[in-house]
Amino acid sequence: MSKGNIGVTSDNIFPVIKKFLYSDHEIFLRELISNAVDATSKLKTLSSVGEVKGDLGDIRVRVTIDKAKKTLTVSDHGIGMTAEEVDKYINQIAFSGAEEFLNQYKDKTEAIIGHFGLGFYSAFMVSKKVEIFSQSYKEDAKAVHWSCEGNPEYTMEDTIKAERGTDIVLHIDDEFSQYLEDATIEGLLKKYCKFLPVEIAFGRKKEWKDGKEIELEEENIINDINPAWTRKPTDLTEEDYTNFYHELYPMQFDEPLFHIHLNVDYPFNLTGILYFPKIKTNLDVHRNKIQLYCNQVYVTDEVENIVPEYLTLLHGVIDSPDIPLNVSRSYLQSDNNVKKISGYITKKVADKLAELYKADKDDFAKKWDDIKMFIQFGMLTDEKFYEKATTFALLKNLNGEYAPLQEYMDKVRENQVDKDGNLVLLYTNDPDAHYTYIERAKTKGYDVLLMDGELDVHCMSQAEQKHEKLRFVRIDSDTIENLIKKEDTAKDTYTDEQKEGLRKAFEGLLPSDADKLRYNVTCEAAAADALPVFLTQNEFMRRMKEMSAHQQGMNFYGNMPDSYNLVVNTNHPLIQELVAKETSEQVNEEVEKDGKKETVVKTVYSLANEDERLKQLIDIALLASGQLKGEALAKFVNRSVDLLNG
Ligand code: ADP
Repeated sequence: MSKGNIGVTSDNIFPVIKKFLYSDHEIFLRELISNAVDATSKLKTLSSVGEVKGDLGDIRVRVTIDKAKKTLTVSDHGIGMTAEEVDKYINQIAFSGAEEFLNQYKDKTEAIIGHFGLGFYSAFMVSKKVEIFSQSYKEDAKAVHWSCEGNPEYTMEDTIKAERGTDIVLHIDDEFSQYLEDATIEGLLKKYCKFLPVEIAFGRKKEWKDGKEIELEEENIINDINPAWTRKPTDLTEEDYTNFYHELYPMQFDEPLFHIHLNVDYPFNLTGILYFPKIKTNLDVHRNKIQLYCNQVYVTDEVENIVPEYLTLLHGVIDSPDIPLNVSRSYLQSDNNVKKISGYITKKVADKLAELYKADKDDFAKKWDDIKMFIQFGMLTDEKFYEKATTFALLKNLNGEYAPLQEYMDKVRENQVDKDGNLVLLYTNDPDAHYTYIERAKTKGYDVLLMDGELDVHCMSQAEQKHEKLRFVRIDSDTIENLIKKEDTAKDTYTDEQKEGLRKAFEGLLPSDADKLRYNVTCEAAAADALPVFLTQNEFMRRMKEMSAHQQGMNFYGNMPDSYNLVVNTNHPLIQELVAKETSEQVNEEVEKDGKKETVVKTVYSLANEDERLKQLIDIALLASGQLKGEALAKFVNRSVDLLNG
């Protein structure tokens, strides 16, 4: 038996391992199983080139728990290690890596998040003692037993081991006794090892029989060694892809809409399958995430810095040995490989969507509502994606017809260009609330878009920036004449004083001061068959408010109260009748003219004895916009009955 000191200068490597990796200590199992799988894969390679003769026999990796001895063992039948190799790979090399790691992060423990691949030594995160029993595949090699109790001293001696391969025995620390529980270990194996390329066995298969759970002879295999993404697309059916989706997300019952199989080997290595899920609300978004693998070993489902943010809405797997895992997350973003990978995925996803749209426009339109949020998010945050997406990003009108923006613009151009040459696209986000406005637009032959998605307002602003002379206007933001101004506005025959008298009469009847701030009364000559009084809401102000709800730094708009124009339509017969009833009087008013005070005579109009009718008209305007509620609504109803009686 030999004794020695592990080849590292720093004495305190073990406390460091425990402390630094504390939050992520469960990865020890992933590290040990990866080593076991690697050793097995190497053996298979050696066998395929004839360096290992004969049948390889049982090559399953096994994980076993001995509750009495408080040990967890990972056993493989891989290439094994000779005493020299243990010395070289375990005693020396592993620690030089750890030392480097230590130096690098000496002063910034908080910067260390994620995965550093301390490999074998991560076993000490949860163990007070670790033993290796190994028998190399090499002829005449003696088996070796290595043991270390979490300090720089180890012992090494010859031993007898019947089978080729390596057993790593962890004597689990009392404080980590959860790793001696079957359920914990099975959970971790399912998380990290589900798609490893060598079978991992843990215990025996169980079955329910006569109300009891019984163990079968058959071993319980954790993993699928040939997951779909490692196979050729031509060998896979649609069903294979769907089945794999459910294998990835056992708790997800919705079917994915479609998938993209990724496969590239230059200038980096990457395989994977991305699925488009149905995304209905923001809540759905982060339940199932893209899983990142490195040669079929699960690494993380936090891929935020590896793929563009909007792609994190997709589901599926990405497997790449070229994504550096042993670095901090902020470093990832600046890594060139990662940038290329991100660009590649963006292109692939955009190309696939373009292809699907081209192949079957109707089918794509059917899926649009489910993928819209994802595509819009991409267009808003990724210029390259935007460029490609213009061919398949769709608009939907109130008839349920879909078209890309350019096609839609061409369709409505004839009828919806205003006198200044702006193409005006009308939209509603609430067809029920805007019913009267929509009906009026239809009489003019205008088309109305449905824009009720969470990102629609942002996308409209983006389209306006990209297309000169394009404006989106919500259907209730002005009179229909003003929404798309064809010629100079219709006129009425009243003087400004007459209109002011009318305006004041309406304003004076707004119930409260708050209402006076909320509703700005104006007189306008709209169409004779439009409502006598109606509400509009300025497009710019409303949109600013809506966008500020999603963005920081725009609180100024967000804090403004909602405000509307209460438009009195001077072309409506009812209003004309009211104007006719106005009485006028002459008043003297002092004005300043050329620095001197002068008295002028002015005509002031007012409207008496019409309160009930004016109130009724205001309420009708509020009602038509869905803003008449509670007590005000009850009063309106009672007043209506009185007016009918009277
Ligand atoms: P890494 O796996 O990143 O190289 P490790 O510390 O996990 O670092 O392992 C160091 C080396 O020890 C491995 O590269 C391998 O040569 C050897 N080794 C570890 N576990 C096994 C095993 N189960 N069978 C054979 N060799 C192993």
